[in-house]
Amino acid sequence: MKLRSAAVFFLIFLLSAGAFCGDLRIVLNSASLTSVTVRANDEFAVFVPGVFIPLTDTYRFTVKGGGIIVNGTECSGPVTVQPPTKEDFLRLDLSKGQEHIYRGALEVSKNGNLLRVVNVVNIEEYLLGVLPCEMSTGYPVEALKAQAVAARTWSVANMNRHGKEGCNLCDGTHCQAYKGVNIESPDTSLAVWSTTGKVLLHGGKIASAMYCADCGGESQDYRLISQTAPEYLKGGVEEPAEVPHILWSHRVALSEASAKLIAAKLIDTPLTDVSLAEKTKGGRVNALSLITETGITLVRCDRFRTALGTYNLKTNLFTVALEGDDLVFTGKGSGHGAGMGQIGCKYLAGKMGMSHDKILLFYYPGVTLGQLEP
Ligand SMILES: [Zn+2]
Repeated sequence: MKLRSAAVFFLIFLLSAGAFCGDLRIVLNSASLTSVTVRANDEFAVFVPGVFIPLTDTYRFTVKGGGIIVNGTECSGPVTVQPPTKEDFLRLDLSKGQEHIYRGALEVSKNGNLLRVVNVVNIEEYLLGVLPCEMSTGYPVEALKAQAVAARTWSVANMNRHGKEGCNLCDGTHCQAYKGVNIESPDTSLAVWSTTGKVLLHGGKIASAMYCADCGGESQDYRLISQTAPEYLKGGVEEPAEVPHILWSHRVALSEASAKLIAAKLIDTPLTDVSLAEKTKGGRVNALSLITETGITLVRCDRFRTALGTYNLKTNLFTVALEGDDLVFTGKGSGHGAGMGQIGCKYLAGKMGMSHDKILLFYYPGVTLGQLEP
């Protein structure tokens, strides 16, 4: 256990990250539709270059030919929609009665035959709609604060993820799940506001604060997954033995596994057995041998998990056994296993009384705490 070493490194450097401060552009994948409606509690304006759209409290956008129709008026877009006042929120109707509420502004543009909606929102307000998606609101407050800092850091470090689309991040799990005001809760909002601007730095630059649901007791060496992974993600951070990990098992018939693996082009003929071919120092599976009627094929674990479903095989820390005509996988942990494990984070905050600063320095050894420019 390396709590002691975390304490040694418990030095807070209130450096200016200098990397980013302000608004993020979040492309709302959930809003790729042929029509959307934006409402507010009062009349408000939409800004369309060269076109006058009468003030109202509801705007309906549809796609037509080369442009967008806004309440019956055609324009080329993009159309910027600002709330009536800074305190108001915009309500985006995604049809079927689903109404998503957003802070900040919305920008509607045409993307092929669909509309694309981008939420332009301050990073702190964005995090209010991220945190409840990424960590249970019932977690101890210091765990929620650690998550807020990790999510803020991750957001800044990954700002160019959707650069080709003219955006920073998306609202799906590809980036960080973001559901706007609908999902906000008092505990997670408090964690965001009470850590405003706080980020993790390494060598004076924004760190890469990877996190996962449960690292299973020891963090994974992320350098095995990404050759550009930094030193503080080299893994080997051991959580206290008492952390109640996610334990899972998955039973699948050989015939069903065969069909999935053949569909994924990992094997050509039916499977008869599977064995673990290569493990990391920490016991994680790197590669498996797929034994078929015609031979043995070696496959990387990530491809194998993707083929069988990462919901079924939650992480690469598992064993496998053949029971009759079934394969039975038994595993511990969930997610990629690198950086902060949220289950462990909950334990360190709730049972060991650790502050969010100490938790972060435990999981990311060698980083320092910094502050985005106000
Ligand atoms: Zn994304």
